[in-house]
Amino acid sequence: MQKGTIGVTTENIFPVIKQFLYSDREIFLREIVSNAVDATQKLKTLASKGDFKGEMGDLTVHVTIGKDTITVSDRGIGMTAAEIDKYINQIAFSGANDFLEKYKNDANAIIGHFGLGFYSAFMVSKKVEIITKSYQDGAQAVKWSCDGSPEFQLSDSDKADRGTDIILYLDDDSKEYLQESTIQGLLKKYCRFLPVKIACGKNKIWKDGKEVETAEDNIINNVEPLWAKTPSELKDEDYKGFYRELYPMQDEPLFWIHLNVDFPFHLTGILYFPKIKTNLDLQKNRIQLYCNQVFVTDTVDGIVPDFLTLLHGVIDSPDIPLNVSRSYLQSDSNVKKISGYITKKVADRLTAIFKNDRKEFEQKWDDVKLFINYGMLTEEDFYSKMEKVALFKDTDGKYFTFEEYKKLIEGNQTDKNKSLIYLYATNKEEQYGYIEAARNKGYSVLLMDNQLDVPVIGMLEQKFGNSSRFQRVDSDSVDNLIAKEDNKPVDLPAGQLRMITKVFSSQMPKIEKVDFHVDAQSLGESSLPVMVTCSEYMRRMKDMAAIQPGMNFYGDMPDMYTVILNKDHKLIKKVLDDAEAACDAKVKPEDDKLNSLKERQAELRKAREGKKDEDVPQAEKDEIKEIDGKISEAENTISGIYSEYAAGNKVVHELIDLALLQNGMLKGEALAAFIRRSVELI
Ligand code: ADP
Repeated sequence: MQKGTIGVTTENIFPVIKQFLYSDREIFLREIVSNAVDATQKLKTLASKGDFKGEMGDLTVHVTIGKDTITVSDRGIGMTAAEIDKYINQIAFSGANDFLEKYKNDANAIIGHFGLGFYSAFMVSKKVEIITKSYQDGAQAVKWSCDGSPEFQLSDSDKADRGTDIILYLDDDSKEYLQESTIQGLLKKYCRFLPVKIACGKNKIWKDGKEVETAEDNIINNVEPLWAKTPSELKDEDYKGFYRELYPMQDEPLFWIHLNVDFPFHLTGILYFPKIKTNLDLQKNRIQLYCNQVFVTDTVDGIVPDFLTLLHGVIDSPDIPLNVSRSYLQSDSNVKKISGYITKKVADRLTAIFKNDRKEFEQKWDDVKLFINYGMLTEEDFYSKMEKVALFKDTDGKYFTFEEYKKLIEGNQTDKNKSLIYLYATNKEEQYGYIEAARNKGYSVLLMDNQLDVPVIGMLEQKFGNSSRFQRVDSDSVDNLIAKEDNKPVDLPAGQLRMITKVFSSQMPKIEKVDFHVDAQSLGESSLPVMVTCSEYMRRMKDMAAIQPGMNFYGDMPDMYTVILNKDHKLIKKVLDDAEAACDAKVKPEDDKLNSLKERQAELRKAREGKKDEDVPQAEKDEIKEIDGKISEAENTISGIYSEYAAGNKVVHELIDLALLQNGMLKGEALAAFIRRSVELI
């Protein structure tokens, strides 16, 4: 029997392993099982080179749960006493202090840095034994044992078979790992695609209403995952089947990409474009990262570009170190190259589908546009690869590339300033009336109803340059959406303009955080009499505020709408005539009063011009104040006359309600009142 001290050069690593790594404890199983698989793979390599001529036999790795132990047994190359001394006893902890301080909560980083895979067993064990026999002819089997102190014991063993048993005597506070279901769950998570069969427990069947064990081993893993096979040998069905294996609850994927590179790094994998139904789907299923078929993580941020984290599938690269910390991964140059490579592959694949089968691409566009838009918004590179492929969809459901669309609208949708106006709707139903008005003018209207379309519009305006602008179809009257000539002032006498404006503005509903501004325009006899629009600028600012924190200023502002009265429409003309007939007699004397007050006000102001405040006599100051008061009094009286008249005018109310209704703004009590009034009017 040999005794010795484990070659820890700086300090005792065990307390670190035990205490600091508590949160990641479960990875001990991954480490021990991957070592067993590595030893098995090494034996296969030796055999293939002719350096091992013995029988291979069944190479399945067994994970067995005892009363208070877990044993991982393999039939790989095993170790001699000298090898144990070299690989297990001598661990170099140079610079350990600094590193431990920095990464004390990151078991992966510590294990990776010190090559400590095996020692992670001490995260859950009070004692660990290695019983091993090397594949080499005449090798003596040995047993190594250590109770978590730096002292170990090494002695001969009578193990007959080649290979290694690692026996973990579990700590009292790690007893949860004695549950078969827990261990099987962990093996499923980390070892699901390891290249050597892993057995744990027996297969179960239902018999006489009970679950009973069979004699057959329960094999955890699929030793030949699809991504490790040659793409040319695979059919669509294979890819779909593998997707179901990974994500049993998902709908069929839209596209997939089989990644396969050897240079300048090794990487294989399959990425799927999923069909996304809810936001929840996005978070639940994620890309899984493997290193030589060992599961590493499903948090791939920093390894694949942000927008691709929305994809599903697997990435496997031996060049992504298995045991590393996040911050290390993100700064690693290989990882950066990988990210660029994947972006390029995704863009290439989408471009190929677009070129080879535009119809299929269009059919799937609505489902993939979220990824593509997200990618174009966040990755400059991706935008330049996709700008010839990305599509617009119009309100008829037709698809166009950016270039095709530009050609389509250039002739008819250029305004007087030579700006190309892209009209869009965000809701076909709600904005129906506006879409129709635009189409009657021969304009095309895009459908931009996706969550990301607000920022996409902003991005495209930047990319397309100053001479292009997006306007929502309900942001103005159709003539002003694409102004072909300078606006003519409305040809109404000032008194009539004031009257019609006051009649309508006095009757607009009082809604919290909503402001209405009434404006008369000349839109032709056949346009609607009253329209409610929301300026493109204001609405966009508010939309941005809703998705971007830090823009609360806009978010808190009231919604501002313009109520456009079409003075050419016969109903507006009628309201004008009626209001004039009803109010003129009352308004006239007030107007006369107002006029003489204003005259006097002008005189006083003129007298004051150029004088310092203290040089103005007090009497004059008092008069100015008095006149100001009287003016606003007279104005209020006039407003009151119109308001009182308008309150009893059903046509005014009907017109306002119809305009609100068209914008989906007539609700509840107001809607009920509108229906009642309409019935009466019929
Ligand atoms: P790493 O696997 O990163 O080298 P480990 O601490 O996990 O670090 O293992 C150290 C070494 O011990 C391995 O490189 C291998 O040579 C040897 N070893 C561990 N487990 C086994 C095993 N089951 N069979 C044969 N050799 C093993």
